[in-house]
Amino acid sequence: MIKVNVNYNLIPTGLNYKKPNVKSILREAHYKKCCYCETNNIKGDIEHFRPKVSYPWLVNVYENLLFACHDCNQKKSSKLPVENINATEPDNVSICNEKETLIMINPADCIENELEIFFDRNGKINSRNDKMLKTIEVCDLNRADLIEKRIEVYKEFEKEIIVAKRFENNAGTINHIKLELIKPIRNDNFLSYKAFRKHIVRNFLSDLL
Ligand SMILES: [Zn+2]
Repeated sequence: MIKVNVNYNLIPTGLNYKKPNVKSILREAHYKKCCYCETNNIKGDIEHFRPKVSYPWLVNVYENLLFACHDCNQKKSSKLPVENINATEPDNVSICNEKETLIMINPADCIENELEIFFDRNGKINSRNDKMLKTIEVCDLNRADLIEKRIEVYKEFEKEIIVAKRFENNAGTINHIKLELIKPIRNDNFLSYKAFRKHIVRNFLSDLL
């Protein structure tokens, strides 16, 4: 998971979330990626961060809407761990955030460095931040299919390093790594599993070389 920079400019006001175009707008605003697990090119679901059942007055408030894959959406379901349930209608999202202390992370409203996410080489996600740990638990971000996909990403890195090493000089190798593995993390908003890719670059790249 990384901080999601939702492109709210794409989202018009006054729409009903049940209308079919809302999901496609949210999908574009999230760069076609799940806000929790970062799987890309998904059909996905509209995710109500503050669940419909507990916060019915926020169902059509865009600051409460995210875009998530079906599995994360199902796992999170109507869960939203908070320390103190105090919000009532018609509190808007900011007032809810003031009145209630969230125990999980809102990917559209967080500071990425504070998530303190780390991974092992087998793609298992972990964190030193209690709220992030809760998010991993609530969305089951270590489910088997995700671990498998992260292992594929690690293998992509291994393959690309082999290609990079074929360059006869060190500068060529480094340039290839920058171009193929590092630059897309910075520049490609649609890229999957950026948190894991960043972790590989920071922590495993030197071992791979
Ligand atoms: Zn997901």
